[in-house]
Amino acid sequence: MYANIIIDISHEMVDRVFQYRIPPELETEIQVGTQVNIPFGAGNHLRRGYVVGLTEKADFDIKKIKDVAGAAVHGVTAQTRLIQVAWWLKERYGSTMNQALKTVLPVKQKVKQKEARYIRRLLSPEDTRKAAKEAGAKHYGARERLLRALADTPEIPYEVAANQMNLTMASIKPMIAKGMIALESETVFRNPVVCGEPAGAKVELNPEQRAAVEDFARRYDAGIRDTSLVFGVTGSGKTEVYMEMIAHVLNKGRQVIVLIPEIALTYQTVLRFYKRFGSQVSIINSRMSPGERYDQFERAKSGEVRIMIGPRSALFTPFPDPGLIIMDEEHETAYKSETSPRYHAREAAVYLAGLCRASVVLGSATPSMEAYTKALEGQWRLYRLRQRAKKDSHMAGVSIVDLREELRQGNKSVFSRKLTEAMEQRLEQGQQTMLFMNRRGYASFVSCRSCGEAVKCPHCDVTLTLHFGQKLVCHYCGREAKAPDRCPQCGSPYIAGFGTGTQKIEEMTKKMFPGSRVLRMDMDTTSKKGGHEEILSAFARGEADILIGTQMIVKGHDFPKVTLVGVLAADMSLYTPDFRCGERTFQLLTQAAGRAGRDQLAGEVVIQTYSPDHYSIVCAAGQDYESFYRQEMVYRNMLRYPPAFQLLAVMASSGSEDLLEQAVKDLRLWAESGAKDVSAAAGGDVRQVEMIGPAQAPVYKVNDIYRKILYLKHENYDILIKLKNRMDLGSRQAPWHSRVMIQFDFA
Ligand code: ADP
Ligand code: ZN
Ligand code: ZN
Repeated sequence: MYANIIIDISHEMVDRVFQYRIPPELETEIQVGTQVNIPFGAGNHLRRGYVVGLTEKADFDIKKIKDVAGAAVHGVTAQTRLIQVAWWLKERYGSTMNQALKTVLPVKQKVKQKEARYIRRLLSPEDTRKAAKEAGAKHYGARERLLRALADTPEIPYEVAANQMNLTMASIKPMIAKGMIALESETVFRNPVVCGEPAGAKVELNPEQRAAVEDFARRYDAGIRDTSLVFGVTGSGKTEVYMEMIAHVLNKGRQVIVLIPEIALTYQTVLRFYKRFGSQVSIINSRMSPGERYDQFERAKSGEVRIMIGPRSALFTPFPDPGLIIMDEEHETAYKSETSPRYHAREAAVYLAGLCRASVVLGSATPSMEAYTKALEGQWRLYRLRQRAKKDSHMAGVSIVDLREELRQGNKSVFSRKLTEAMEQRLEQGQQTMLFMNRRGYASFVSCRSCGEAVKCPHCDVTLTLHFGQKLVCHYCGREAKAPDRCPQCGSPYIAGFGTGTQKIEEMTKKMFPGSRVLRMDMDTTSKKGGHEEILSAFARGEADILIGTQMIVKGHDFPKVTLVGVLAADMSLYTPDFRCGERTFQLLTQAAGRAGRDQLAGEVVIQTYSPDHYSIVCAAGQDYESFYRQEMVYRNMLRYPPAFQLLAVMASSGSEDLLEQAVKDLRLWAESGAKDVSAAAGGDVRQVEMIGPAQAPVYKVNDIYRKILYLKHENYDILIKLKNRMDLGSRQAPWHSRVMIQFDFA
């Protein structure tokens, strides 16, 4: 056996792999990830290295290969575990080891050892609350947030105030000067009460919540480690359930990773964890510098913090002994990496948990098709929370408005009569409205305003995308068509590119409801640091009557005064060229509906659509997940999409169209011969691998690089992995290797 070894995991060196022979007596001890001692260079000085791969045949002259001297560290460390994960990412998703290591290991960067600092309140809770009100009246949003939070909990880490609440030193100083708060370093001040014994942060669990927690705890104590799905409607108290599970695992002396999509990682969410677990909690987010992130990981490694909250990358927190991984909103697309290795955090979490004997708990109000399928098949445990946790809080009433009918009645505005009326009512009563568009608007597909049909590819059942206003392209099979001037379904001439931007909606809203105060939230208004938080807080403070936005407004904050949610055109996300568009639409609508009437005030939801009969919309309006799931599964089965089938996209890109053409032809041939071999090895007893393409990528040319995609479908994942490996190997040895980039993506 031979081991591929990297000498140093500092960044520049990971691409250089050295091969050593493993002496037979060390074979059982040395695995991927093991830290070893090796003789290095001409002097054969012993150096430390990490095993990143094992192979049975040497890539070099055997006589020149040296022996591994011994294992440097016995047993598993966080570091070796993460290297194993990197190896798995590379194998499973197809990437270089370098890319995989960069994904799991934080940038090693010396940062000045900073002392943890805390902001402590000096006034009584009542006076602090009063001060918060005054700050709010003066529109000091960040100060108000801080004081409100301090009214509930006596201290807050400076990092949370700075990173999550957007406080600056400039806004903290006046409060210190007035004697409201103090900024203290850890050595000066450490409040032992905060840890685990917070003021009133614990709630009495309801029977559904208790059943989930107790079952989890019983199984955990029995040594069972597995994956479970907490499927609970919005506001059903999933976070409370997670916190009880976390407490149980912390009590065993182990650590916990909590994944939350960045978009939902607001200070409100983070504070709930702080209130319960105090300074054992730390966070990372994408706005942190690599140095700050590294710092957080060091604190986790040393045992200083025991709960790490963060987006996808928090999964790779180097805790010594993680016992639980929580993944909130597991259906979120942000959990899938869009750069190589294109891993899904849900799958990586399950793999990582297997390595360290941890459990995984996923949570969602609208579980992904993948997760719910696993739960139904009994592979994962299922906990249902069917009721909202807060008393007097009810699900909102939902109605669907048929926009085709509005047009027939002569209403050409984007607001239906029903929505207009409901909005006027809210303005009169001083209540708030959220207007929701489920996509940032571009005219990107063609639909009929009379019958509501979007023009689709006859072979793929996905919507054709409009290119330059005249050509329709299918992004799945590459077929093209001229944009029709009449609807192919009903012949109506009212057919047009569809999509309206948030900015335009803002203008229309102001015109339609003069005097109303309108806030808009989209990529443009939130691009500056903290913009997202500022807009949501302003709206929560009641500084506007209407908030317009994309899916960003669906997450995070509680808005007790919002009693109306209007979805302007639910179809927008329905006709995107993605087999998951029905699922996305259902999720977005359900989450949007969950925003209305979270408190005592009754909520109302108006969904405007050109497809009032589409099951994604009907089921979302009826808050009927099961029925949606059944119908969506029929579609996935019929067209062989995940989770019924596995789908691998092989993407090739090159500056030369000729080389690209050659490459995708080769890729297809390798895939075909690989499929033949697999079939032969199984005695012909496997279903044929379905291949689609190669076709042009949705955007064929980007920065003068051309891109093509080949799709492979099969029910068996392992078979697709074999084909992936065959294509990977082939492309490495191909004459075009240095000029065509190949990327693999499992959907
Ligand atoms: P989810 O994460 O499922 O949307 P949350 O955990 O945020 O739900 O709970 C929604 C609201 O209900 C929160 O304000 C929370 O404090 C409250 N809550 C949760 N569980 C209970 C309970 N057992 N009793 C009273 N209030 C609860
Ligand atoms: Zn039509
Ligand atoms: Zn097609």
